[in-house]
Amino acid sequence: MNVRFLGGAGEVGRSAILIDDSLLLDFGMKTADPPQFPVETPDPDAVVVSHGHLDHVGSIPSLLSGGRRPPIHWTPPTRELTLTLARDTLKLHGGTYDCPFTEEEVRRVTQVSETHGYREPFEAAGYEVTLYDAGHIPGSAHVLVDDGETRLFYTGDFHVDSQRLVAGTTARPDADAVLCESTYSDVQHDARSAVEERFAESVKTTIWEGGTVVVPAFAIGRTQELLMICEAYDIPCYVDGMGTDVTELVRRHSGFVRDPDALQRATSHARFVTGRDGQRKRIADQNTAIVTTSGMLSGGPAMTYIPEIRDRPVNKIAMTGYQVEGTPGRELLETGSAEIDGRVMPVAAQVEQYDFSAHADRDGLLALLDSYRDTRVLVDHGDRCGAFADELVADGFDASAPENGDQVSI
Ligand SMILES: [Zn+2]
Repeated sequence: MNVRFLGGAGEVGRSAILIDDSLLLDFGMKTADPPQFPVETPDPDAVVVSHGHLDHVGSIPSLLSGGRRPPIHWTPPTRELTLTLARDTLKLHGGTYDCPFTEEEVRRVTQVSETHGYREPFEAAGYEVTLYDAGHIPGSAHVLVDDGETRLFYTGDFHVDSQRLVAGTTARPDADAVLCESTYSDVQHDARSAVEERFAESVKTTIWEGGTVVVPAFAIGRTQELLMICEAYDIPCYVDGMGTDVTELVRRHSGFVRDPDALQRATSHARFVTGRDGQRKRIADQNTAIVTTSGMLSGGPAMTYIPEIRDRPVNKIAMTGYQVEGTPGRELLETGSAEIDGRVMPVAAQVEQYDFSAHADRDGLLALLDSYRDTRVLVDHGDRCGAFADELVADGFDASAPENGDQVSI
């Protein structure tokens, strides 16, 4: 089996792995200015997608240009999330070099889509493929590819600990090689319950003192997780931006959620913002939490809320995800001011950050890999893939970290 890395090797973003020039795993887009795409657009016989995050599905429709119609295999939520993201990319960048596909190609996605549940083997490009619950976001999958002689276990993004929205992964299928993500290979997350309690305490204090808390959150997974936390701790909250649509989408696929009743309660508890900026300005005056996209303050209704609440020290901005370098969210954490709509704005409101990661940390990665001590390990999807592979080698693993463009024979 030949594995070629077209993206996501030695980096986070634009994941794309091509097997024997025939089966493509993921086809993502890297959020940057300008966005980056896999190093080439292949013509595969079939595509299998691990989960519906932009860095794994962002370029999918471009595989359907001209007469190309490879079947695309995924879980139902991944299909819906991919379509949601593709339409958003068209809206933001359609017709420019920053959008690698057309409206017509997005429409074709539904024609070639083939959905599968977990642990139901299917045939794709002559391989037997099985998806396993990866515990990252609803519908996220590990992908096991079997050509009859060799089995490759592609972890995709995963979490070993349970979140409120999805339970952690327990799947450890037999394999001859593991291609493992390594996003947090040098990080140790605090226990989720402790992070939740700190967050809830802080948000409640601000509301009690008469302030407003803006909670920037990624639309997919994080927004739903935070709504469930707000409900559990009885924190009044609004939800705004793309996260509102994704919350409805996830509710339609409740079989991929850990506790559908809890998600239902959270959705009833939150107030959905459907109005315009006038309504947002009124909400920004209330003693409430506002869960809103974008998670890194690079767009979305957060851009309306932050200027409204920024100059009162009683208010708070509670960041809930990793802030990529160069984003306004990162700038706000580091400098105390943020560039919003081209204007640098000093922020007097309190700024805090919470680690609600949906990825395994170092211990979590090692917990999964411990089941594969006699198996070849390839490390991808991280900022320090080479260093992590070296650490695994020192620990007795047969590990390496390929680079984009590399071909590995397993
Ligand atoms: Zn992901």
